Amino acid sequence: MGKDAHPGLSCPEGLTRRDFLRAAGRLALATGAGATLLPRWAWAVEPRRPNILVILADDLGYADTGFQGCKDIPTPNIDSIAAGGVRFTDGYVSCPICAPTRAGLLTGRYQQRFGFEHNPGPESHAAKNFGLPRSEKIISERLKALGYATGMVGKWHVGYRPELTPPERGFDEFFGFLSGANNYLPAAFRGQRNTILRGMEPVEEREYLTDAFGREAAAFIDKNRERPFFLYLAFNAVHSPLEASPRLRERFAGIKDPKRQTYATMLGAMDDAVGKALGKLREHKLEEDTIIFFLSDNGGPTPQTTSRNDPLRGYKGQVYEGGIRIPFAMQWKGHVPAGKKADRPLISLDIVPTVLAASGATPTAEDKLDGVNLLPFLKGEVEKAPHDRLFWRMGEQHAARVGDWKLVCRRGQPPELYNLAEDIGEKVDLAARNPGKLKELQAAYDEWNARNMPAQWVRQDGLTARGAGTDAERFDRLDRDGDGLLTPEELPRPRLFKRLDRDGDGLISPQEAEAFAGKGEEP
Ligand code: CA
Repeated sequence: MGKDAHPGLSCPEGLTRRDFLRAAGRLALATGAGATLLPRWAWAVEPRRPNILVILADDLGYADTGFQGCKDIPTPNIDSIAAGGVRFTDGYVSCPICAPTRAGLLTGRYQQRFGFEHNPGPESHAAKNFGLPRSEKIISERLKALGYATGMVGKWHVGYRPELTPPERGFDEFFGFLSGANNYLPAAFRGQRNTILRGMEPVEEREYLTDAFGREAAAFIDKNRERPFFLYLAFNAVHSPLEASPRLRERFAGIKDPKRQTYATMLGAMDDAVGKALGKLREHKLEEDTIIFFLSDNGGPTPQTTSRNDPLRGYKGQVYEGGIRIPFAMQWKGHVPAGKKADRPLISLDIVPTVLAASGATPTAEDKLDGVNLLPFLKGEVEKAPHDRLFWRMGEQHAARVGDWKLVCRRGQPPELYNLAEDIGEKVDLAARNPGKLKELQAAYDEWNARNMPAQWVRQDGLTARGAGTDAERFDRLDRDGDGLLTPEELPRPRLFKRLDRDGDGLISPQEAEAFAGKGEEP
């Protein structure tokens, strides 16, 4: 946090700036009525801390929004965030799947630092030690300590145990569900996996789930408009299962492919819900007081949902660009330029440090954040890229981006090297022609990886409960090229293949394998 963000700030005698802000936060909490009751002297020195709205989409591909070039499914509300702020062309998440990305986003640290490397699988099959450890401070806990009203709406997916649920992790309010996926139609909100919770109490929800999340987000903003708030709006849209919004069938009647049409209604519903939240900010004239981030948690699983990652190679589950580079935009009207495109690499881990800087909390070296404060870069105060190197690791695949160069390593395959400036689609492997560059990236990766923990759990679910090893390991063994999908060559049992391949696209996804085992969807 630079001094310049709060000109004229001077702390009362004997207090460090940090102590002062903490005291102000505690006072706000103690009054129970929020920051509006802070003493006059506090406001004299401290401008209002900005509200924070983090909107996370699920399994939304790089080309799935209007601002990223999607033509057949309009997303005007989501696009307005990019138009009113900055679009990040080279915005990444820290994992190509759901839960680890969320652990990184909420902490501002590469999740491998604390062993959060894999999805848990459904609650009934999750490893006992699964979850975001309490020793890692998360964004809601940090902002609550500053006096923010904190709310979460949507999919949690970083802990099932009671002490790891949103109400125990700094969220005053929680409406959503704990697992990695859910149905959208109210008739299906039953059973352990699908229960919708308010606080931790099951509720009877009657709306299409994405509509309900929009309603709850708007209500939270309404209720907390007078004080700084943090809202983490984590849609499960547009993750499978493909369940159309009945309300939007008509809007997308022109899309002939039924799967695409269903997907369009899911995305349209999310855009409407985003519009509800943004509308509340406009209604209460809070746009200049609110930092908004919009991003997806991983690339699109195209074969399952029709999500699109073009021009990128690969899908959700892979460390090719299509798995990790996502639609990403940020808006802070009056503070960050509008309608700008930022094309330097940055990552979801940057959200926490950026938010902390804007809200007046200075991270210490002890926090060991891997992300950086983006504000100086976005305001043009700093010329260089926020990151000169970024890294990914998930099981037996890993990747590194150093400048324009990208290293991709997949289990059992020789390392691949691409130049993204010339070859965004990772089509031409330059490893053999550039052994020096390859070595440089491998060394950078090794250096980064030396500070990571081993994965603290593996998925406990997958193909079938029988057989050697975990089911996920069986899937991975069959998946010889490590692309997260099984081809007929990899599973040369035609009758079994046909039964597993529910959507008949000639590939078996982990979700389809999971469904076959009767355990629900693996996010
Ligand atoms: Ca996801």
